[in-house]
Amino acid sequence: MIVSIFNDVIGPVMRGPSSSHCAAALRIGRLARDLMDANFQEVLVEFDRHGSLPTTHASQGSDMGLFGGLMGWDAADERLPDSANALRETGVSIRIETVDTGDEHPNTYRLTLRRTPDEQHTLIAISTGGGMIEVINIDGFEVSLFGDYHETLLTLIGNGQALVQRLAALIEVDDIRLHEHGGKQLVQVKAAECLSEAIISELRGACPVLQVARLAPVLPIASRKDTKVPFTTCEEMLLHDAGRSIPLWRHAVQYEMARGNLTESDVMAKMVEIVRILRRSIQQGIAGTHYDDRVLGHQSGKFSQLMQAGRLLNGGALNRIVLYVSAMMEVKSAMGVIVAAPTAGACAALPGAVIGMADELKVSEEDMAKAFLASGLIGAFIATRWTFAAEVGGCQAEGGSAAAMAAAALVTLAHGTLPQAVAAASMAFQSMLGLICDPVANRVEVPCLGKNVLAASNALACANMALADYDPVIPFDEVIETAQRVGGQMPRELRCTALGGLSITKTSRAIEARLAARTVAACGASRRGGSQ
Ligand code: SF4
Repeated sequence: MIVSIFNDVIGPVMRGPSSSHCAAALRIGRLARDLMDANFQEVLVEFDRHGSLPTTHASQGSDMGLFGGLMGWDAADERLPDSANALRETGVSIRIETVDTGDEHPNTYRLTLRRTPDEQHTLIAISTGGGMIEVINIDGFEVSLFGDYHETLLTLIGNGQALVQRLAALIEVDDIRLHEHGGKQLVQVKAAECLSEAIISELRGACPVLQVARLAPVLPIASRKDTKVPFTTCEEMLLHDAGRSIPLWRHAVQYEMARGNLTESDVMAKMVEIVRILRRSIQQGIAGTHYDDRVLGHQSGKFSQLMQAGRLLNGGALNRIVLYVSAMMEVKSAMGVIVAAPTAGACAALPGAVIGMADELKVSEEDMAKAFLASGLIGAFIATRWTFAAEVGGCQAEGGSAAAMAAAALVTLAHGTLPQAVAAASMAFQSMLGLICDPVANRVEVPCLGKNVLAASNALACANMALADYDPVIPFDEVIETAQRVGGQMPRELRCTALGGLSITKTSRAIEARLAARTVAACGASRRGGSQ
């Protein structure tokens, strides 16, 4: 699949501590709901013992997102923190089990949904980072489904090839795939719309169809047949630029227009809307957020007071950036609305750096949007070659990517050249290699706040060095390859499993136990309240 800036890099707009848990699980849940035509009584969720989810699914929001998706909710729905109760109140029973399945990907979700004791469907999906997913198996059929199309799934016994030919003669679709499993066949149809009842009636004449499922897309930018983008790597973009030094944000606009079949004004309007969401969230964070189930309280308010009173050390614009990063992280931890850019864990470095600097420079929302577009293209190069998933690459995949993106964005705000923007991204990413993921108390707060501040500060330093034509030496694409290699050498304990680093300190364990006890007490109180 060709990466989209709005699908894969700057987005989703969401609530919750982790996009690879909350937003991705929500998308998986919505697809599973569609598979059942919104009619099911039991849900069994299984996680492989050796993956990252057995230790993180509750505290990092997989459960919250998955159950919200099964309810059919949006990723920014304010009811998400109570999604498990809401699902149970519809009469659905939920079981979560740890199993030994030897799943290759650490973020694998195995769902079994029952409508009646005799009717069930299974779905296996992986979360690939930043809220992106891939469904890899449905009812035993090996499929590949990213949530970027209207998909119609036709299960049959008989001559599936005849059905495929009949369908191709009836209408034009983007892709038809025939899968075989256990004596049955599954025809997977990707198109701009799901197949209508009239078309399916016609098909039944060619071959008896046992079941039909219609899955709506869960990504904001749909895919289509024969999509071509002008480049997919940084090196290709520089060749495409051919020394003209077209600004990075302009290349980003061209890329996303080609990817999403959008106009330039569509792309700009979407990014300006995201800038507005981010600005609102930062202001909410500074004003004060409240949420019981978190490690850190409201800290940005005092930072803001001291900054305004001139009582902080002189960090120039960096102090405002630190303030905005802190505010955004507090909004995230309070289940407020954020934008995963590129992930929820690393949601604050980029907007903190760009909006913080933009407010210092007093530039327009449109200029901020251009900076975000530039950062989005840098992120697209990373997502095309690698991942934003900390479960795969440690915090260098989240915080490292955010630093690279923010550095290019800051050069764009300063009207630097294309080579300078790319150099800033390369230098910033180089400095983040090897960064481990070790969330304290299994919450995405500590050391995540510090790592977002580190990413934003590093971005500012690298942007200024690039503006002064410092030499990054290693090209950006090679830095991405290196991050991938380093991620592969990192032990599982240091890749978002909460089994190493700061996660296993005495204090981390104590905080985790305290938060767990508070949650149990709150659940007990709510049950007692409900029975009165
Ligand atoms: S340490 Fe980094 S990768 Fe891990 S949860 Fe925190 S921000 Fe995300």
